[in-house]
Amino acid sequence: MSIKDQPQPPRFRQIGNILLLLSSLFLLANIFLPSLFGPQIPQVPYSLFVHQVQEQEVARVSVGQNQIRYQLKGEADKPGQVLSTTPIFDLELPKLLEEKGVEFAATPPPKNGWFTSILGWVVPPLIFVAIWQFFINRGGGGPQGALSIGKSKAKVYVEGESAKITFRDVAGVEEAKTELVEVVDFLKSPDRFTAIGARIPKGVLLVGPPGTGKTLLAKAVAGEAGVPFFSISGSEFVELFVGVGSARVRDLFEQAKKQAPCIIFIDELDAIGKSRSSGGFYGGNDEREQTLNQLLTEMDGFAAGNTTVIVLAATNRPESLDAALLRPGRFDRQVLVDRPDLSGREAILNIHAQKVKLGPDIDLKAIATRTPGFAGADLANLVNEAALLAARNKRQAVAQADFAEAIERIVAGLEKKSRVLNEKEKKIVAYHEVGHAMVGAMMTGGGEVAKISIVPRGMAALGYTLQLPTEDRFLLDEAELRGQIATLLGGRSAEEVVFGSITTGASNDLQRATDLAERMVTSYGMSKVLGPLAYDKGQQAMFLNDGMGNARRAVSAQTAEAIDKEVKDIVETAHQQALDILKENRELLETITQKLLETEVIEGEELHDFLARVKANGKVHAAV
Ligand code: ADP
Ligand code: MG
Ligand code: ZN
Repeated sequence: MSIKDQPQPPRFRQIGNILLLLSSLFLLANIFLPSLFGPQIPQVPYSLFVHQVQEQEVARVSVGQNQIRYQLKGEADKPGQVLSTTPIFDLELPKLLEEKGVEFAATPPPKNGWFTSILGWVVPPLIFVAIWQFFINRGGGGPQGALSIGKSKAKVYVEGESAKITFRDVAGVEEAKTELVEVVDFLKSPDRFTAIGARIPKGVLLVGPPGTGKTLLAKAVAGEAGVPFFSISGSEFVELFVGVGSARVRDLFEQAKKQAPCIIFIDELDAIGKSRSSGGFYGGNDEREQTLNQLLTEMDGFAAGNTTVIVLAATNRPESLDAALLRPGRFDRQVLVDRPDLSGREAILNIHAQKVKLGPDIDLKAIATRTPGFAGADLANLVNEAALLAARNKRQAVAQADFAEAIERIVAGLEKKSRVLNEKEKKIVAYHEVGHAMVGAMMTGGGEVAKISIVPRGMAALGYTLQLPTEDRFLLDEAELRGQIATLLGGRSAEEVVFGSITTGASNDLQRATDLAERMVTSYGMSKVLGPLAYDKGQQAMFLNDGMGNARRAVSAQTAEAIDKEVKDIVETAHQQALDILKENRELLETITQKLLETEVIEGEELHDFLARVKANGKVHAAV
């Protein structure tokens, strides 16, 4: 194919390129030429300016590179007030000005050397003309998508609307609600807190998988407190032009401060708040970084006490956030919004079922039982699907059968995303977790078992056993390490005891157990055979290793063999211990697992009682 045949780039692409060039020039001028000129005219936020233009209060506008000056419409013989604002690169402005019939022109140049003069004279009008031309060429179509950049697109939900959503509309996330009730108190009566010198938190981070109700909770906080709610999504910040994101953040906070007390809600915070170091070497994203920096500046900017602006943010990837965001005075509070358990799901179904007509045979509890792993949004979707099915079948009300069919459809979708367990898997996970808990209860070193759950958490874990340390520990002795290894193997051992076979679910446990055992031998010198030698090279190895993760000191073949044998011994001894504990408590293993399958979560008093029985058994045995 000859070169001639290549299609010509469309005309709008060329215009786009020119625009890009001009706008970069314009922004550079903004950054490098400080505003030294002009008499001091009252400054107002850009958003107020836009508002005034929209309300047709503005008579004329003159656009400079660092300042937009404008005059309000005067009364009778009095000329209107002259105000100024800081320009934001806003493609919508020329169109808006034209629509509202506002005169506009470029500012006369300040006497500041020829370079400034030329820029001052030439660039802004040129850009204006170019942009204007651009829109006219597009046939007057409004700026869409990527082109509608500039001022913050924050949606504002003011009282009337947000008051409709309260904590009563959110269910199944009781812990998160309890924490947020406090935030509502801050917003309602900040004086009560500042009077005794307490610092009102600025940022609260809602962490949890998609669809668990983070956005809903943020709205409910605003609704409960009766304050305005500014919402913007992190992904909207990441746009074409460098500098736009940070301008938006600035504008958003300006708007919010004027309406304090209020809530700023940043959804998908990870889109701007990704760790700055992670992009680092292979070229980070400048735009995102600037936006993040602006956000940090703004959060540091508003002094607690005089403005009550609380920033709520949501993310499902807290681990990817920049550490600077999590420092005190920023998002120092984290609220976990997790998938609901059985009773939570029933409560959520109750809320959403009120919107549809239910038949007499509906049993919400049974539906909740059949939907483990569903998040709030999935349940809302389920109710709607069932209603659609009922309508399709020309029924007057939704029947249980509609729900059954809807569940099947949704589960098929969710299973692809590997979030929902089938009955058999659920059973295996339950035995597995109870195994961890029972062995953990008998062993020292792992802390107290505080919760067992088979509600899938995050993206990977199917179930989990939560062990909380009873005190801060910096040193662990050999017995405690062995105890931890046995606890890690408890899950797999339970599968062996009950099913006589094992699943792939234990691979992470095995990894961790083996790592611990290896460290006991090679770093902590806990092996009698190998003695107090450090066989791994420690921290230094990070830089010296051979690129294959091989961080071991050069050892003889016999030593390497001995190390392997020791590690294997430790793990196998622990495995045997775990098996023994579970076999001796076979009945309890059954009882606790049945209970867990029923309620999906065991914690608190109930768990404590169960585990006390395990421990008592062990003592009797040891005494004999
Ligand atoms: P997230 O922001 O965590 O992704 P959303 O708040 O956007 O989830 O939830 C989407 C919808 O799902 C909500 O508007 C609501 O209808 C429903 N929903 C989610 N979680 C809950 C919950 N805990 N209680 C009641 N409804 C919920
Ligand atoms: Mg959301
Ligand atoms: Zn496990």
